[in-house]
Amino acid sequence: MYQCKDIADEVNNYIDGDLTLGKRLGLFYHLLICSCCRNYLQQIRSTISVITVSKPKEDDNTNTQALAKKLHDLYKKHDH
Ligand SMILES: [Zn+2]
Repeated sequence: MYQCKDIADEVNNYIDGDLTLGKRLGLFYHLLICSCCRNYLQQIRSTISVITVSKPKEDDNTNTQALAKKLHDLYKKHDH
C-alpha cells in the first residue's frame, strides 16, 4: 500500500509514464482514496502544462524537473 510520502517520491515518474504497471496501479489506488495526493498531482500537472506552453521545447525537461523538485520538497514538508 502506498503512503503519501511514496506518492511524493514517485509522482514525477508517474507523470512521465516511467513506472511499472504495478506501481502505476498502486499510485492510482492511493490517489483514489487520498484527496490530498490528488490535489498534489493536479497541482503539478497544471503547473507543468503552463510551463510546457510558455517555454521553448528544449527547456521543457529542465524546467519541469526543477519545478517538480520544488513542489516535491514543499509537499514533503507538509505534515499529513
Ligand atoms: Zn496521499
